[in-house]
Amino acid sequence: MTNGGFHPFTLSDLVNEALSEGVSLGEIALRHECEFSGISRLEAVRRMQANLDVMRSAVQQGLSGRLRSAGGLVGGDAAKVEEYKSRGLSGDHILSAASRALAVSEVNASMGLIVASPTAGSCGVIPGVLLTVAERVGADDEATVMALFAAGAVGIVAASRAGISGAEGGCQAECGVAAAMAAASAVQLAGGDPEAAAHAAAMSLKALLGLVCDPVAGLVEVPCVKRNAFSAAIAMIAADMALAGVRSVIPPDEVIDAMGAVGRMLPVALRETAEGGLAATPTGKSLSARICHNLGDLSGITIGREERGDSGKTREPEGLS
Ligand code: SF4
Repeated sequence: MTNGGFHPFTLSDLVNEALSEGVSLGEIALRHECEFSGISRLEAVRRMQANLDVMRSAVQQGLSGRLRSAGGLVGGDAAKVEEYKSRGLSGDHILSAASRALAVSEVNASMGLIVASPTAGSCGVIPGVLLTVAERVGADDEATVMALFAAGAVGIVAASRAGISGAEGGCQAECGVAAAMAAASAVQLAGGDPEAAAHAAAMSLKALLGLVCDPVAGLVEVPCVKRNAFSAAIAMIAADMALAGVRSVIPPDEVIDAMGAVGRMLPVALRETAEGGLAATPTGKSLSARICHNLGDLSGITIGREERGDSGKTREPEGLS
């Protein structure tokens, strides 16, 4: 969902608009998308369907278990969780969302095709949750695409009011916002109203508030891939809580503003510089030194991707991980 660089929205505006029109949050987001981008409804839906198709295909690719990341730190965990999930402690749906989130994140770490949602670093959360909930409730593609527009409504408000990059606001701005978007989409798919969707988003973001961005060696691998799985689990639980009638005491827009304020308070070492948190542990530093030794500087990794002919695949905008 785009807004042409101008931000007139709060989440409560969008929810109230949806409630007064008697439509879903996704429907309101779709209408605004057409208005601001100047494309037809048919074209907007077609583009979102294309995103959904990419998400599905990334899940399949990641679950194959054959991927290895550029830095060699991640790969194969999605398949392990998928194989294990019937014996799991957390329940089949939570683990399905987690394995799919891992799958898409592993595809990203191996330079494959994903949808940045809202960023490449957090690309697994929405497909993990959305495809699992769609399966659970028997939703068709039309409803699933509309749920992606609901996710977009949360994303555009978060991007406009607080920011969605780890460099700007820490991982709460990437995985936290992804969880918020995913939870809203899950509520819509499950038949919850726009107000419940907004509160599911708020509760997800609250659970991840303050999460720092500390990628080992500056690569979107550790802790990023596993954080996608945990964020998907949080989104599933937040969606269920909202559907059960639980509401965030702090209103959703205030939660988003708090996330932005926390992000601005985070030291630079915890905002994607790989100078703090897990990146600064003895193991993090040693892995970083080994990767730099094996691959040269980080620009060498980018060159490696182009040499494999992967350029042109869907990637995030500059500056977002
Ligand atoms: S790069 Fe930072 S913000 Fe992005 S997923 Fe990794 S830890 Fe989170």
